[in-house]
Order: sequence, then C-alpha cells, then structure tokens
Amino acid sequence: MTLDAGLPTVAVMVGGKAFDRGKDYAFSVLRHELEHARHFEMMIDKLAEWRRDAAKGGTKLTAEQARAGFDRWVTKSKSIDKVQQALLLGEQTQNHASTELLAYVEGFVSVFHLGPQVPSISLMLTGDFPAAIHQLWKAGEKGYGAPDAVRKAALARIKDYRDNFLSERERGAFRAWVTFLIDLGTQKPPQEQTDEASATRLAHARLSPKPVLDFLKQL
Ligand SMILES: [Zn+2]
Repeated sequence: MTLDAGLPTVAVMVGGKAFDRGKDYAFSVLRHELEHARHFEMMIDKLAEWRRDAAKGGTKLTAEQARAGFDRWVTKSKSIDKVQQALLLGEQTQNHASTELLAYVEGFVSVFHLGPQVPSISLMLTGDFPAAIHQLWKAGEKGYGAPDAVRKAALARIKDYRDNFLSERERGAFRAWVTFLIDLGTQKPPQEQTDEASATRLAHARLSPKPVLDFLKQL
C-alpha cells in the first residue's frame, strides 16, 4: 500500500474456477476472499488513522520516512491489537501466513455443516477434498508460521463455531473428520493401483507434513 496519495480501495475477485466445484466450494472461496478484504479494510483504516496523527506534526515526509514512521507506529500504537499488528507486519514483509490462516478458517466455518458429514475416502476420488476439508487442510499448510496471537484467534473461531453454531450431530461429524484426517496424515498409505488407494496416497501427501498435522491435532 502507498502512504501518500489517495487511500487504497479494496476489491474482491473470485475466478471462474471457484464455481466449477459446486456451491459449497464457491461459497467457501467467497468467504475466504471476504476475510482477506476485511483485513485490507482494517489496514486502510489504520493507515488513515496514522496519517491523521502524522499530519499533526506538520512536516512533509518522504516516502521512506512515511513508511518507517508508519511501521514504527504499527509496533507501538495502543489502538492496534496483536492480531491486527501481525496482519500489518505480514503485509509489510509479504508474509501471508496470518491473513491466510484466518481466511481459510473463515472458509471452513462457512461450509462445514453444509458438506458431507460422514468422512470417507470415496469423497476424495476426484483428487479434490470436500470444500470445507480443503479449507481446513490449507489453513494448516498456509497458516504455518503465523504468530501465536493469530493462531489463538483462528482456533478460537473454530471452537466458537463448533460449540455455539454446530448441532450435536454436526459436532460429532467435526470430531470424526478431524480424526479421519489425522489418520490419513499419519498412517502409511496402501500401494495398490486402485482409485481408492491413489486417493489415500494423495491425501497422505497433503496431510502428513508436520505443520498440517500439528494444526489438526489442536482442533
Ligand atoms: Zn487466501
């Protein structure tokens, strides 16, 4: 984002591919992108807030001075909480773990209850996970390295969804899916040349990396 000139604006674009994999998938992608947009809006608000403060000083800043001034303000302003700070610093360093973790979690909680409630490898034979499971896997993968405050917020969001939104039956399904995914990630997959065995190998390859397993085990 630039520090002078007009404040940036936010647009959400969802590619045509998002609509090829069913309504749940499209909805999860849209909610995911809206969460990124929410983060950008927060950043723009904070930029405007800093500018108002900086303008009080009265001196004209160069682009570098403005960048440094804003970055300093981000690390010490009392109006910025730890999650916002992680998002702002992530944007500054082009490390997207925080915004991706929160966006994938938002994608997950928007569709899990709409998707298949009984876990089975037969739901993965196309090489795609069900929409919610895709978002959950990616939260573990792309969210790796996000600071503690963001991880805590992401886990709290899932816990709130599970405890306050899901029915008892859906909570059971949630538990069953998490166990199923951890098993896929930890058990050695079969080597036969059947569709089911190759889907199991693909799932294992996606779910066995430590960051993904560690994330799933926290749920
Ligand atoms: Zn994203």
